[in-house]
Amino acid sequence: TAKGILGDATVAELQSALRGTVVRPGDPEYDQARAVWNGAHDKHPALVVRCAGTADVLRAVEFARSQDLLVAVRGGAHSIAGFSTCDDGIVIDLSGMRAAHVRPRERRVTAQAGTTWGDLDHETQAFGLATTGGLVSTTGIGGFTLGGGVGWLLRRHGLACDNLTAADVVTADGRLVHADAEEHADLFWALRGGGGNFGVVTSLEYELHPVGPQVLSGLIVYPLEQARQVVTGWRDAVADAPDDLTTLINLTTAPPVPFLPEEVHGTRVVVVAGMYAGEAADGEKAVAPLRALGTPIADLMQPMPYTAMQQLLDPLWTAGAHNYFTSTFVEPTDGVFDTALELHTTTPTPFSEIHLHQLGGAFGRMPADATAFSQRSPGLLVNVIARSPDSADFDAHVAWARGARDTIAAHGQGTTYVNFTGETSPGTVRASYPGDVHERLVRVKDAYDPTNLFRLNQNITPSAT
Ligand code: FAD
Repeated sequence: TAKGILGDATVAELQSALRGTVVRPGDPEYDQARAVWNGAHDKHPALVVRCAGTADVLRAVEFARSQDLLVAVRGGAHSIAGFSTCDDGIVIDLSGMRAAHVRPRERRVTAQAGTTWGDLDHETQAFGLATTGGLVSTTGIGGFTLGGGVGWLLRRHGLACDNLTAADVVTADGRLVHADAEEHADLFWALRGGGGNFGVVTSLEYELHPVGPQVLSGLIVYPLEQARQVVTGWRDAVADAPDDLTTLINLTTAPPVPFLPEEVHGTRVVVVAGMYAGEAADGEKAVAPLRALGTPIADLMQPMPYTAMQQLLDPLWTAGAHNYFTSTFVEPTDGVFDTALELHTTTPTPFSEIHLHQLGGAFGRMPADATAFSQRSPGLLVNVIARSPDSADFDAHVAWARGARDTIAAHGQGTTYVNFTGETSPGTVRASYPGDVHERLVRVKDAYDPTNLFRLNQNITPSAT
């Protein structure tokens, strides 16, 4: 029927038990309610439950189990692989749950799982505090943190998940459990890198650090002709950089923006982007070598509010386009750079790009067994992005990204980062975790979700299924 596979009475009963609302096929808000950030995933769920709080999440999980529905969990809706929507199942939508409560003296924030990084930065920066968040402010804290969480404070304060101090989780059997270093410690370990496998996280608590309000940050844009000297020079310049400096290289096409000269619009360029998280005066010294890697087309590295840097890239990452990310960890060798630069000359669209994230610092000092995210030693995370405004030729762009990723991955162990992964195969999941870590994740999955109710994620398959 137009209303989908669930009967009216069944849905009305669920609605009456909620503070939030149920949206179904045929409802005026259905198309808006089913839309996710990545336009490549156009799915038609049987219902979207817009949860108002934890009580609604408990009801929604109970309902999904009793009706035997496929479950998608949605926070910021930025999943590249399309995990936060589905056909004919239930979307447990947390995006209305966005309260964030800062305790400045304790340097802690507790935020509901629908909070975005823009929301969280807004609340924490009111007290001059921050924790590692996304390079784009519209991403949700939920999926981002559960997969790891790479951001501008990575080398100073580690991943987002390294700063997670506790989480409340609705488990598959309909309980609310609190996980931290003492309680449900195995679950707490798994939540920090193991993705959405273990239940619906309703709130997350983070450690905060003094950051800003002004930070030296931004972009330096170099022409393609200087690419090789820029990337190898960048590697050497950042090798001994202080932890306060986190940078990346973006092999991209110059967008038609006013701060770039018109003649470079649409040409391939090399961008050095970064943030110095400490005093701006010390930062000038740290970024000086980055300004001297060649002759910049534009130098937009300057003191700016931390929140401005957190939002700087937002206009380039609006919702609705088709997107595919695929990633690998490697070392910053000449071979990797030569390969990446060669591939850069074949990017199929002006929106497709290759990111080289500098790792190390606090990220690298975290013991490998402290969190389920355990790939602490590599020097570089490479993210290959295929992006196009619509579906035309998107498959070919994805094929380019996959091929590019495989060529670069051949220089390393072939390991991947779950949050920068559009694939959903068991092989991808295995490539994201060393064998012993994967086994430990299976044990936690067996304990908290033995029937695999939560399977729209980089799935850790329980032993019994
Ligand atoms: P959603 O689509 O809402 O969730 C994705 C999946 O995560 C869900 O399907 C579910 O499996 C799980 N999940 C989410 N919330 C919960 C919850 N509360 N409980 C249980 N499971 C949950 N990653 C980085 O590390 N660094 C970046 O700088 C970065 N930038 C990005 C920029 C853009 C434009 C995009 C699209 C992605 C970016 N990512 C980045 C990747 C990002 O971390 C993942 O896409 C992440 O899944 C987004 O989280 P979300 O809550 O917005 O997504």
